[in-house]
Amino acid sequence: MPNQVRKIGFIGAGNMPQSIIGGMIKGGFPADAVLVSNPSRPKLDLLEEKYGLTTSQDNHEIARQADVIVLSVKPQLMREVCEDLQANVPDLANKLIVTIAAGLRFASYYEFLGDNIRVVRVMPNTPSLVGAGLSGLVADSSVTDDDREFVTQVFNFVGTTIWLEDEDGIDVLGAVAGSGPAYFFEFMHGLQRAAEEFGFDPEQARLMVQQTALGAAKMACESELSFIDLRKQVTSKGGSTAKGIEAYQQAELGEISKRAVGAAVARNQEMA
Ligand code: NAD
Repeated sequence: MPNQVRKIGFIGAGNMPQSIIGGMIKGGFPADAVLVSNPSRPKLDLLEEKYGLTTSQDNHEIARQADVIVLSVKPQLMREVCEDLQANVPDLANKLIVTIAAGLRFASYYEFLGDNIRVVRVMPNTPSLVGAGLSGLVADSSVTDDDREFVTQVFNFVGTTIWLEDEDGIDVLGAVAGSGPAYFFEFMHGLQRAAEEFGFDPEQARLMVQQTALGAAKMACESELSFIDLRKQVTSKGGSTAKGIEAYQQAELGEISKRAVGAAVARNQEMA
């Protein structure tokens, strides 16, 4: 089916699908091709009012009308929701299944929905909520090039996408990009506390850290230079930044990052 006429139906209207839908509509995706279901009305009413979407409290109704079904419920509800769709929605094999739930592997979706389906797993990260996300995507072998193009377009509306070769890549991407915002927040908290120790009030210390993080991220995104060369560019020999960096190097920040990612990968593998 040509991508421009595909209808996309979200099962679950939580924070993540709301952000994706907001990004899609803002980016010009036609509102009449977006459908959403949720057990209770308030979130649906909001989406209907804001964007004029088709909504329903009945998952079957939305899944029947959609060409692409985005499973957007919590992982622990996935079996129940999928088995119910499998029993009530004909033609699932002709639809593309996209899941944003963490952890569950392709094998689980074949078990819940039948093994003749086409599935894309997506791991969006939380900055997708502000349009600056990074989504890792992995497709099973039945997914077509048109499917890939469609899913890429959808998740590019809330940031950037990376296609991965296999499901193991999702565990690593989760440990870097999924957990990454928390690592940065932890570091920012430390820097804010340090500024406070040296006499700044919390408000000014926070502003200083958040604007510096934003500026550094913008420079890193806009430059061709490696992160280490960018760091060198702002570190004059014998200057104060060099002294600060020396302290980070003595504490082996690089090694700490490796340990943090390794621990998060191991946990993702345990939960899969
Ligand atoms: P959320 O808790 O905000 O929303 C879940 C929604 O599912 C709620 O609106 C709830 O009413 C609805 N729901 C409950 N039972 C349902 C059912 N039987 N049928 C249909 N809808 C039902 O969760 P979220 O943050 O939107 O996350 C959704 C999925 O996205 C989860 O699987 C989560 O792992 C994944 N995810 C979220 C993030 C994030 O940053 N929020 C990041 C990556 C992945």
